[in-house]
Amino acid sequence: MSSQTFDFLIVGGGVVGLAIAREIKLRDKTKSVAVLDKESELALHASGRNSGVIHAGFYYTPDSLKAKLTRQGNVLLHEFLQEKNVAVKNVGKVVVTTNDKQVKTLEELYQRGLANGVPLEILSEQELQKLEPNTRTVSKALWSPTTSVADPKSLVQALESELKNLDVKVILSEKVLSINGKTVNTDKNSYSFGHLVNAAGLYADKIAHKMGFGLQYDMLPFKGLYWYAPKLKNLIHHHIYPVPDPRNPFLGVHLTVTVSGDIKIGPTAIPAFWREDYGGIANFKFSELVQVLADLPRFLVSPHHNAWSLVASELPKYSRKYLVKQAKKLVPSLAQEDFNQKGKVGVRAQLFDRKAKRLEMDFVVESDADSTHVLNAVSPAWTTSLSFAKHVADEFLPL
Ligand SMILES: Cc1cc2nc3c(=O)[nH]c(=O)nc-3n(C[C@H](O)[C@H](O)[C@H](O)COP(=O)(O)OP(=O)(O)OC[C@H]3O[C@@H](n4cnc5c(N)ncnc54)[C@H](O)[C@@H]3O)c2cc1C
Repeated sequence: MSSQTFDFLIVGGGVVGLAIAREIKLRDKTKSVAVLDKESELALHASGRNSGVIHAGFYYTPDSLKAKLTRQGNVLLHEFLQEKNVAVKNVGKVVVTTNDKQVKTLEELYQRGLANGVPLEILSEQELQKLEPNTRTVSKALWSPTTSVADPKSLVQALESELKNLDVKVILSEKVLSINGKTVNTDKNSYSFGHLVNAAGLYADKIAHKMGFGLQYDMLPFKGLYWYAPKLKNLIHHHIYPVPDPRNPFLGVHLTVTVSGDIKIGPTAIPAFWREDYGGIANFKFSELVQVLADLPRFLVSPHHNAWSLVASELPKYSRKYLVKQAKKLVPSLAQEDFNQKGKVGVRAQLFDRKAKRLEMDFVVESDADSTHVLNAVSPAWTTSLSFAKHVADEFLPL
């Protein structure tokens, strides 16, 4: 067992931890920075298991961190990926309605987007037909030209190689087990730090609790399944989303186009019973099941969300038939048999406030002089990785 000391020690090598490490070095290259990850390679969790959609920032209330950081993050991420020669497909996105009631919410999204400084347009049914002939809407649709897509892993790889040049130490295969004062103990070594940044994704609450932060929170994991339709390449040319239920933090079943032109449905937001519940019983932890079984009933009686309706509408999505039926509301010509290739499952690190019985809708950061804890780095935290890192460095880090 060896012991090393770093000015900044970052727990978690997803896009959030990597982007924060980069931002520290760009601001002060004399600081020693290390990133610790429990896995033997990066991008094994949310940062490598997401849709790769570079969001524009129109969903979020104008006073939220998500609104501010998504608009900025969209611009910064496009610049960064271009500089690193990472392919981006500028597909844009349409939001369509499936009934009259949703038209009002669509107009609210439009106003929200304008308040957030996001370029948006309202389209008539005829204009939508011209843009995306295979899609349907009820009277109006929303067009977002700045939404795009990239391969999620490629961002992790680009950040990792930049960190090498910036002399950041990325330490793999070491799991943080305990923290005593200003020393972190992993399963192999111990590390002393000037300031610790917790960016541990699905385990960020556990790391925070070890240092007395975020004690009212637990992670309530939600599972995202995808299905690909290899034969339908180029059937649609833009991402197609439904109008979301504003009381829940998820966006509903949607169709996205990948960088290579493939079409996929998903992700779902099915309650998961343990955190790394990617399939079978791999990574099953009984203590996590117990926590989820204690928190789910609290969520179901929450006055803040439409929880029963969310669970009732999500559970059937284990069935591919049901999932495609939902997607057919957006693109009627889809057929179940076209979606015959399963995508990689992702799990959202959704933060739940046990006392308030509320899923946190915005990013949450808690901090003191010794440590900063990134909680609720849910979507669109991949899009906002670079702007979020700037925010954390501006507001919380001793730089
Ligand atoms: C299904 C799905 C679809 C999504 N789609 C999009 C999208 O299209 N666009 C978008 O902007 N966002 C999207 N997101 C959100 C985005 O993927 C996440 O917000 C982002 O990847 C979070 O990054 P992270 O660094 O916080 O977490 P992670 O990528 O999970 O990284 C956390 C790291 O911490 C490590 N770790 C955990 N515990 C320990 C420990 N004890 N010791 C050491 N290391 C530890 C893990 O191994 C992991 O590598 C999606 C998320 C999901 C799940």
